[in-house]
Amino acid sequence: MHREKSWAEPWKIKMVEHLRMTTKEDRIEAIKEAGYNTFLLKSKDVYIDLLTDSGTNAMSDVQWAGMMLGDEAYAGSRNFYHLESAIQKYYSYKYVVPTHQGRGAEHILSQTLIQEGDFIPGNMYFTTTRLHQELAGGTFVDVIVDEAHDTESEFPFKGNVDMNKLEDLIKRVGPDKIPYVCIATSVNMAGGQPISMANLKELRELTNKYGIPIVHDMTRVAENAWFIKVREKEYENHTVAQIVYEICTLTDHATMSAKKDPIVNIGGFLATNDEEVYKKSQNMVVIYEGLHTYGGMAGRDMEALSIGIEESVQDAHIRARVGQTTYLGEKLIDYGIPIIRPIGSHGVFLDVKKFLPHLSQDVFPAQTLAAEIYIQNGVRTMERGIVSAGRNKETGDHNRPNLELVRITIPRRVYTQAHMDVVAECIDDVFERREKIKGLKFTYEPEHLRFFQARFKTID
Ligand SMILES: *Cc1c(COP(=O)(O)O)cnc(C)c1O
Repeated sequence: MHREKSWAEPWKIKMVEHLRMTTKEDRIEAIKEAGYNTFLLKSKDVYIDLLTDSGTNAMSDVQWAGMMLGDEAYAGSRNFYHLESAIQKYYSYKYVVPTHQGRGAEHILSQTLIQEGDFIPGNMYFTTTRLHQELAGGTFVDVIVDEAHDTESEFPFKGNVDMNKLEDLIKRVGPDKIPYVCIATSVNMAGGQPISMANLKELRELTNKYGIPIVHDMTRVAENAWFIKVREKEYENHTVAQIVYEICTLTDHATMSAKKDPIVNIGGFLATNDEEVYKKSQNMVVIYEGLHTYGGMAGRDMEALSIGIEESVQDAHIRARVGQTTYLGEKLIDYGIPIIRPIGSHGVFLDVKKFLPHLSQDVFPAQTLAAEIYIQNGVRTMERGIVSAGRNKETGDHNRPNLELVRITIPRRVYTQAHMDVVAECIDDVFERREKIKGLKFTYEPEHLRFFQARFKTID
């Protein structure tokens, strides 16, 4: 009999962290105090925390041992040189500028490359990425394939770039107005959906034709590589490490949030093959982050990151990582709960337009659902819909994204399969009572990245 092999984790648990259970009354009180925004809940009031996979990873014993090797020199820490060589070895980029996290790298690269009036095409926006492009005077243009916006589509590479959309933009505004194309691997806002190697190669060819560089948002590159391995025939016998390396060689510059793929709690970097960009970025990092050999990280953090990079590109690790996400997704599908398909790499995304069809986007359905899931059983998730999309720079109206989602994000190496069962049951319980759920309205709306700090009240 043929049986699919289990995705069981390639590690065992050495230390545990206790979880705290609360009552429903506690949670109703806590979410009210948090303005119905799961970002404003206190961690102590949360049972299973699936808000984000950012910085919530469990480090290995080897990484913890590395923490003891921190060289906390202001300049020239040996941990920086370890980090630099790990990036060169696994990601191919020549030059490295460390930053405190991903947005630090985005800030520096945006300010270095973008001029007022430029256009930056990308395979869907990311919140901090787009904001830094705008603050530098640029305008983001979405050139992802239409399938990415279609929750029904089972297309295996929803992170792909639509070459026609991109070439139309190049012809319309001219290549001089496009400082780079920004490509995310395992596209967060599309639901953790990959870009194919074939598409990336095609993109490289097109951008070469017009002399436009590619910036790689490599936050989840190893997860993307796994999908290439299992979905792109040509790569089935490649290792994840080989695929990661090849992806990187097809791009010119990169920004990394080390809080995701490389399994640490804080950190990031900017990497490039361009010496000019390297020098400018090195010069800027000292203004905003710290000296160019620590960029906002402690020596020990750079050491843990160097080790995490190597661990993150191992096939067994990524197989279990994506395996756990798939497990939760399939369980929800079995319950008949509408989710984005194919199931992504770092999380499962509830399709809220189908979950709460009676709510209009103006009452923030995904925000509402995240609050209800918390009330149900203390599971913390987050909104990825109209609140995250912010307002249009010109008109001041809400951006109205096609996708109105709740993101259930899985930290790396933290929770067990039984926790995933609890999460699925919790969401099913909310699904049972969905018709009674009403929406929310703003009581406080911050100007930038409003989803982080916005407050709401219920509509009666
Ligand atoms: C998290 C993230 C960033 C920003 O990184 P931070 O470390 O949170 O500053 C950028 N791009 C993507 C795709 C991300 O997921």
